[in-house]
Amino acid sequence: MTTSHWLRQHSFRTPDITTDVLIVGGGYVGLSTAYWLTEMRPDLKITVLERNQCGAGASGRNAGFLTKGSASFFKSLTQKWGVEKAQSIYNFAEESLELVHQHILRASPEIKFERSSSVTLFQNEKQFQEWGTKEFNPTDFKFEWREQEKLPVPLQAKFFGAFENAPEYKINPMQLLGSIKKLLEVRKVQIIENVSAFELTPEGVQTEVNTIKAKQIVLALNGYFPQFSSIFKDVIVPRRAQMLAVEIEDEFNCPGLHYDPPERVYWRKTQDKVLVIGGKRLLDEQGETGDFEKISPVIQRGLEQYLKEQLNLKYKVIHRWSGTMGFTDHELPLIAKASAPTETFIVGGFSGHGMGLGFRSAMDVAELVTRQKSESFFGAFKKVDFKL
Ligand SMILES: Cc1cc2nc3c(=O)[nH]c(=O)nc-3n(C[C@H](O)[C@H](O)[C@H](O)COP(=O)(O)OP(=O)(O)OC[C@H]3O[C@@H](n4cnc5c(N)ncnc54)[C@H](O)[C@@H]3O)c2cc1C
Repeated sequence: MTTSHWLRQHSFRTPDITTDVLIVGGGYVGLSTAYWLTEMRPDLKITVLERNQCGAGASGRNAGFLTKGSASFFKSLTQKWGVEKAQSIYNFAEESLELVHQHILRASPEIKFERSSSVTLFQNEKQFQEWGTKEFNPTDFKFEWREQEKLPVPLQAKFFGAFENAPEYKINPMQLLGSIKKLLEVRKVQIIENVSAFELTPEGVQTEVNTIKAKQIVLALNGYFPQFSSIFKDVIVPRRAQMLAVEIEDEFNCPGLHYDPPERVYWRKTQDKVLVIGGKRLLDEQGETGDFEKISPVIQRGLEQYLKEQLNLKYKVIHRWSGTMGFTDHELPLIAKASAPTETFIVGGFSGHGMGLGFRSAMDVAELVTRQKSESFFGAFKKVDFKL
């Protein structure tokens, strides 16, 4: 959004402010970074700037899988990086879930979160055999095989078996964000919503209404990085993801967080009779590139077809929506210090795994900001040097 000359002259201008650390982006990662900074350096003045309301980006639009990831994710990491490095990412994700459980979920009675497991489904033996590779042993990542008869009853007719991993959590992402925000307010973090950052200046950040002077800046913009600066154009690619929420008519007792890799869908039940499903983006891969939210009928139809044909469900559609993910070419986040007039750090490109990896990643960012370390965990996977 831009502000006209007339609006600026009229009444919009607000006084400049000064802070120690300015975090731009009030998603899960930006708010969690603020949380870790208050843990590590309670003496610092911390400000979060969000152009909409906190959670307006992917963080308030996702499926609510607080998960390490599917067996397919770890298969792909093993093929790309070898088993040891892939295991280090698994351990990082596991720590991320433990930390968010310990620091936020358990401490926030208002959050209705459920302990759960991730379930990577296979429809038949042929599919299962074709999926397997010599390099990848699911037990190296604590995945356990569930045979057909051990699957929840509604899945037994259509699925051959599944890899399961626990503990994971089902959450309402906006409740999670709300709890972090509440904690930050108690800790006197200044949260400014509905104001956009325009650009970095030698003093800090220029917004549409004022200048925020900051000693250090964290840009936590995930899929919106290229909107902020074209430097990120080919590095973090925004991709749209569709979601559908339906109310199901019959009992459907499947408590897990389900992935169906060949169908490219993920789905779960919430605590009531609601089921949320996302994915099917390959039905229109070209059309789903970009950083604005819209419903894509082809993909929504694909999601509904899955509910009818694969899960045999009768349902009523309650809501359809989309969100923007930020993808890197190696499908891991980028967390690094950039070259900029003010000391600036970037964190983004979670490639669809930000709720799983985000809390521990935010801790990594806070450790860079407070100079407890000079390279992030993900620096070992890809080095980047952004000049802003
Ligand atoms: C449909 C969907 C389903 C998903 N499901 C899952 C899942 O189940 N599990 C999982 O682990 N991950 C999932 N993800 C991915 C996950 O949601 C993201 O990786 C994660 O939310 C990224 O958090 P973030 O804080 O980095 O980014 P965001 O939440 O996108 O936050 C960035 C923020 O920056 C703000 N912003 C942008 N530009 C400016 C500016 N100029 N000035 C100020 N503010 C600005 C935006 O408004 C936004 O609030 C899903 C994503 C989508 C879209």
